[in-house]
Amino acid sequence: MHIEESVKLDFKDVLIRPKRSTLMSRSGVDIRREFVFHHSGRHYHGIPVIAANMDTTGTIEMALALGAQGLSVALHKHYPEDELIAFFQSLQHGKLKASTAFYSMGIGKADYEKFAAVMARAGDAIEYVCIDVANGYSEVFVHFVKKIRASFPQLTIMAGNVVTGDMTEELILAGADIVKVGIGPGSVCTTRKMTGIGYPQLSAVIECADAAHGLGGQICADGGCSVPGDLAKAFGGGADFIMLGGMLAGHDECAGDIVERDGKKFKRFYGMSSRTAMEKYAGGVAQYRASEGKEVLVEYRGPVTDTLQDILGGVRSACTYVGAHKLKELTKRTTFIRVTQQLNEVFGKS
Ligand code: 5GP
Repeated sequence: MHIEESVKLDFKDVLIRPKRSTLMSRSGVDIRREFVFHHSGRHYHGIPVIAANMDTTGTIEMALALGAQGLSVALHKHYPEDELIAFFQSLQHGKLKASTAFYSMGIGKADYEKFAAVMARAGDAIEYVCIDVANGYSEVFVHFVKKIRASFPQLTIMAGNVVTGDMTEELILAGADIVKVGIGPGSVCTTRKMTGIGYPQLSAVIECADAAHGLGGQICADGGCSVPGDLAKAFGGGADFIMLGGMLAGHDECAGDIVERDGKKFKRFYGMSSRTAMEKYAGGVAQYRASEGKEVLVEYRGPVTDTLQDILGGVRSACTYVGAHKLKELTKRTTFIRVTQQLNEVFGKS
């Protein structure tokens, strides 16, 4: 047994110190980023925010809405092959960029076979893939990333999830361009409760970004953002991309019907390891495992565009407070202050 004594931080533990700035207005802030990916060599230019590959948020409808503004969606893996192919091919001829959508997969045999079939039929339409497992520390996962990289050198591969620098390096060396970071911070995740495993998300981002950047790779901070300021903190801590689930839930573009309770409208949102998801896709919770996600009702929020404006407006404003003309400059202009209080809640929590 070992105890790590250094302080590890969550978004709630810090604020960003304002700095003298020559920026006149948040409209002068460019929140797009450009990257040339380490392995694929492909060029990316967009707003580096990605809707999570959950079957509620990682939808084609979400991709159309987010893609129109330069953001991305990791499409959930439960779409039928033909629908995925038709959508990715539509990106080749339409106005949306290839970075609009990531193809997502797990590392099971069925995942690989479906992916191989899709690539055989529409390989030139797919540029971005997300290889996603709950526990990115397993050897089979690293082997799987190596196998995909060897077979498809042209793909930009995002892989995860991990929370430490050593494993970030290992995944980049195995072929990942972007390492997805986060174990346990998600809004509908119960991993920490069920297993005791996890890592404070802001420190995970800071440490993994440092490791990835040293090798020319990128990271995606996945999970735990609950307000726009958390995105500013994740970018400030070094995140190149941010993945959002809960903050994008409850919108028209999310899968699922509107549910009414006491005259109010809601949409269901649940973890992909929740009982709900396992019953939907795996015929129930297998006897050897426990659910590591929960289901919630999120108040219905209409079209996602208004929420996006809030989120991106918050990030732009954070940049003006520290004098960052571009999102790229935010990290070097960020000084985190440790705090014991975030908000004044005298009038409630919202
Ligand atoms: P959020 O933005 O809602 O805080 O976090 C979204 C992330 O939570 C997803 O991208 C994914 O990494 C994680 N997640 C989604 N479903 C589950 C689940 O059932 N269990 C766990 N442990 N994590 C989940």
